[in-house]
Amino acid sequence: LVSRLPQVGTTVFTQMSQLALEHDAVNLGQGFPDFACDPKLVDLVAEAMRAGHNQYAPMTGMPVLRQAIAAKIEATYGHRYDANTEITVTVGASQAIHTAILAVVHPGDEVIVIEPAYDCYAPAIALAGGVVVPVAMRFDEAGFSVPWDAVGAAVTPRTRMIVVNTPHNPTGTILRQADLDALAAIVDGTPILVLSDEVYEHMVYDGEPHASVSRHPVLAERAFVVSSFGKAFHVTGWKIGHVAAPAALMTEFRKVHQYNVFCVTAPMQHAIAAYLEDPAPWRDLPAFYQAKRDLFRAGLAGSRFTLLPSDGTYFQCVRYDAVSDQSEADFARWLTTEIKVAAIPVSAFYGQPKQLRVVRFCFAKKDETLQLALSRLGRL
Ligand code: PMP
Ligand code: GLN
Repeated sequence: LVSRLPQVGTTVFTQMSQLALEHDAVNLGQGFPDFACDPKLVDLVAEAMRAGHNQYAPMTGMPVLRQAIAAKIEATYGHRYDANTEITVTVGASQAIHTAILAVVHPGDEVIVIEPAYDCYAPAIALAGGVVVPVAMRFDEAGFSVPWDAVGAAVTPRTRMIVVNTPHNPTGTILRQADLDALAAIVDGTPILVLSDEVYEHMVYDGEPHASVSRHPVLAERAFVVSSFGKAFHVTGWKIGHVAAPAALMTEFRKVHQYNVFCVTAPMQHAIAAYLEDPAPWRDLPAFYQAKRDLFRAGLAGSRFTLLPSDGTYFQCVRYDAVSDQSEADFARWLTTEIKVAAIPVSAFYGQPKQLRVVRFCFAKKDETLQLALSRLGRL
């Protein structure tokens, strides 16, 4: 059998979670909360099931949920998407990303991916027959940033799409208005589409706004904007997200979506639609996670790790060159098996692994979990 994805093995998240389990390590590797979601959400699902919402949902998503999503986006970012033609409910952000890429990338098309990049973009591009054109983020004393001149220079007549992710996994950087303007200057007047992965949209810290692509007129008219309720509501296992895009793009998206999954689990859609009536859960999220970020950073302040900025997401990246000269993969394994705290090597987010001596920790954990991890890491 000739593999369609010869370069792909098992994801680093699965590998590191497995290693953490085997070695009884605190798992700050794979990104997921170790605390419960709001019990109200669980009650809402049970109510939806008891009320009989147990058959196929509409292909595009329950109308009540699509309307709630459209209203939330408009209230938050000021852009009105048509709930019927421009919003689709998906099996997490992963399916939205995969389906969007399959829907618009033709064989031979180039897709610019800014690295380090979350691991699900490149395989989807490969399956569509597209070509990943990686552009490395700048990495210096100030941490990671996007070199827009290099992104612009990577554009060719074959460029179909540029993938952006803000807040950014794994680096914890965010795009700001100037970044969106730079991206807009590159794509304006071209047929290039944008895929904007905004799953951490409600995890931006220090009072900064989230610069959503949906807020930017030049970008919104050519973009798929993806988000995930798994992140916002602490239910990563529910795998429910959404994509917003102009109607012409959404028509193509739905052609693939209807055969890819057809629809998304019905009781969860009802529960989330009801839960969205109150904006408090996502309004309060930045303060909630910022406190965890600050606790984690304070705990590492006296160690030999160098903390990189974490302006958004629930990830904290650190340089460890003062601690060890191991490769990132070896260091992450050593941390897991010997120090008993699992982390993710940032090299796993590059097509051609780079050795920046940076690992990523997830701080979406109970304070006591973070304290336990810090009692082990703080000694290094
Ligand atoms: N994009 C990014 C940047 C992510 O970190 C994740 C989740 N780890 C996803 C997409 C996928 O989200 P979901 O679990 O909703 O499929
Ligand atoms: N998005 C999560 C992370 O970056 C992982 C999700 C997964 O395991 N696919 O850690």
